[in-house]
Amino acid sequence: MKKIAIYGKGGIGKSTTVSNVAAAMACMGLRVMQIGCDPKADSTRNLTGGQSIPTVLDILRRKGDALLSDFVVEGACGVFCVEAGGPVPGVGCAGRGIITAFEKLAELNAFEHYEPDIVLYDVLGDVVCGGFAMPIRGGYADEVCIVTSGEMMSLYAAANITQAVKSFGKRGYATLRGLILNAKNIDNEEPLVAQAASEMDTQILYHLPRDPLVQQAEAQGKTVTEAFSVSSMAVHYQTLAALLLKD
Ligand code: ADP
Ligand code: SF4
Ligand code: MG
Repeated sequence: MKKIAIYGKGGIGKSTTVSNVAAAMACMGLRVMQIGCDPKADSTRNLTGGQSIPTVLDILRRKGDALLSDFVVEGACGVFCVEAGGPVPGVGCAGRGIITAFEKLAELNAFEHYEPDIVLYDVLGDVVCGGFAMPIRGGYADEVCIVTSGEMMSLYAAANITQAVKSFGKRGYATLRGLILNAKNIDNEEPLVAQAASEMDTQILYHLPRDPLVQQAEAQGKTVTEAFSVSSMAVHYQTLAALLLKD
């Protein structure tokens, strides 16, 4: 089982990228689990027809306890979808919420039960506090990738995440695999991100172009992989999926 955490600034395209890559991997015949670690809890929406699924924290709040079947939903292409969820807005700590959700997944032996070949964590990287750093630590993820565009704020978030990974990395936790450039089509974008990558002592793993098919698929509650399986964007996601599967 391989476990990859995908970080990045809010709105940069993490959930879109992760759900498309998850669908592409599932279409290759792999068992895939996608775990959304963003209080927005919309990581897996494009795998569930645009519908929200119950989050681990919602179930815990409502029932006091949870069964795997309460919150693991089989989405498009058979991807096992999980949303950690978040605190009640204005009350509580989002990072603590992620820790609670992870503890519940471990207690319920989620990986032993679903036997995924690959686990993808989709993690908000605006804050890299103890909670949001959780997938980097404690053996949760083996590798970290960071989604960024050439915009300063997303590169700033990428630099912070890189620093967090490197400081934990010394203790044998997850390693940084590289940046996924999700283009916003700003001037000089690729050289800008390449320069930032070298300053972070990492590399651009893949360059995803901006494509209107992404939003057209989203409007149908689907990934591009599912809605437009014969398109250049679907091929990009398949290529990235194959790359991430390599050691
Ligand atoms: P995040 O999970 O990082 O908050 P999302 O995946 O929700 O971000 O993406 C934010 C918006 O950007 C979505 O409306 C999505 O359709 C759009 N988007 C993401 N990647 C692309 C792309 N490569 N081309 C076009 N639109 C994209
Ligand atoms: Fe919680 Fe992290 Fe916010 Fe601190 S920074 S309150 S740990 S979410
Ligand atoms: Mg998201």
